[in-house]
Formats: sequence, structure tokens, C-alpha cells
Amino acid sequence: MIEFRDVTKRYPDGTVAVDELSLSVEAGTITVFVGPSGCGKTTSLRMVNRMIEATSGQVLVDGQDVAKQKPAQLRRGIGYVIQQAGLFPHRTVLDNVATVPLLSGWSKAKARTRASELLELVGLPVEFGKRYPAQLSGGQQQRVGVARALAADPPILLMDEPFSAVDPVVREGLQDELLRLQAELDKTIVFVTHDIDEAIKLGEKVAVFRVGGKLAQYAEPAELLRA
Ligand code: ADP
Ligand code: ADP
Repeated sequence: MIEFRDVTKRYPDGTVAVDELSLSVEAGTITVFVGPSGCGKTTSLRMVNRMIEATSGQVLVDGQDVAKQKPAQLRRGIGYVIQQAGLFPHRTVLDNVATVPLLSGWSKAKARTRASELLELVGLPVEFGKRYPAQLSGGQQQRVGVARALAADPPILLMDEPFSAVDPVVREGLQDELLRLQAELDKTIVFVTHDIDEAIKLGEKVAVFRVGGKLAQYAEPAELLRA
């Protein structure tokens, strides 16, 4: 479903962020990219939706080289969630989520109904839809970010440290929610974290990166060598 073939990313200043990465992410799984800061996790993730272009090698989504696809079209099938939920501050929570279906031509009423369903799906009370993002906690904002990423029903979800900014108790709740959601939705999720415990909890497959952008291990959590 997502395949990295010998992918290298060298930034203009010469930094090799990702060094000959080859791996396949299976459809319908949560695959976690884990490793210390600066080991190339975010760079790898962003090459999937072409926020970053590979220097050499190929990234394929559904067998198609992403370099040959229009970014806007590619991204329609790829939801993206980051650490700071990145919500529009002047729009209500409901309208933040409804924006995506509105942009794809749904009527306002239909888009808002869909947005309400999504808020429920991510475990937010429907009344929260009327609030503005600043009136939500960090964890609640992340739930809205996930709801918005799911609004276009993309088969792929890229998540970059989505739960790192919230406190440990809330984080555990969000992790449990994600597992529950995934059991229901069966997305192909690539999840970036620096936290090995989070990787083991969430990942069906875990890719361990090391500094210099090399893949050190790629295995099911139970098979990882915890050195
Ligand atoms: P991670 O997500 O694992 O923290 P990144 O993919 O963000 O790692 O970064 C990998 C390496 O590439 C790091 O050494 C980082 O400093 C470097 N890097 C990231 N973005 C740029 C950039 N735009 N220009 C130069 N170097 C960069
Ligand atoms: P309504 O449902 O009442 O039509 P909209 O969400 O469409 O509300 O927005 C109403 C007005 O506010 C529009 O003119 C829109 O362009 C503007 N607007 C909405 N969100 C923002 C924003 N984040 N920044 C600036 N203007 C905004």
C-alpha cells in the first residue's frame, strides 16, 4: 500500500535525513516510525504526501510513484495529523471539521451532519462543536484534528507525534481511542513517535530509525530487540 524503495533524502545543506530506506507498509495496519529526534521520521512521513520530495529512490502509494501524481490529488486520499492540531482559531470546532466536506462540494447542512458524526466518532460530546478551538484542552483539540483528518474518509492517515503535546494520562486515552477507531475504520496508518512504549502499544509493525536516517529494525513489536 505504501512502499519506500531505496529512498534517500538529502537536504540542500548536505544533511542526509533519510538514507536508503526500503520498507513496505501493509494496508489496514498501524505502522509506527520510532527513533530519537533527528533520525528522519518526519522527513520519511512527509515524502508520502509529497510535502517533501525524495532526492533518490521511489515512494509508491497503491503501486503508483507519488512523484508522478499531482500533490493535491494525492493528498485527497491521505489524512495528515500533527502535534499541534492546527485548527482554524476563528471557526467553531464543528466548522473546522466540516470545512473538508464543504470544500469537496457538500452542502453546508450535509457537511455539518458529517462533522457531528466525526466528532462523536473521536469521542467528543456533540455540544463541543459550538466551541472555538481555544475553548478546548490540548487533548480535545487533538481529537478534533483527527476528526478533521478523517473527514474526507482517506484510506491513509499520516500522524506525526499527534499525542506528544498532551499529558501522559490523556495520551493513554487518545492511544486507546486510536486503537478503537482503527478496529472500526481499518485505515492504513503511519504513526511517528520518539516514544518506544507508544510504538509498541500502537504498532502492528514498528520501524526503528537511528540517527543518520538509517532503518535499524522493522518488525512486529514482540520481535523487536530492545537493546
Ligand atoms: P525526526 O522526525 O526523526 O526528528 P527529521 O526528519 O525532522 O527527524 O530530520 C532528520 C534530519 O534532517 C535532522 O538532522 C534534521 O536536522 C534534518 N533536517 C530536517 N529538515 C531539514 C531542512 N529543511 N534542512 C536541513 N536539514 C533538515
Ligand atoms: P457561515 O456559516 O455563517 O457562513 P463561515 O464559516 O462560512 O460562516 O464564515 C463566515 C465568514 O467568516 C466568511 O466570510 C468567511 O470567509 C469568514 N471566515 C471564516 N473563518 C475565517 C478565518 N479563519 N479567518 C478569516 N475569515 C474567516
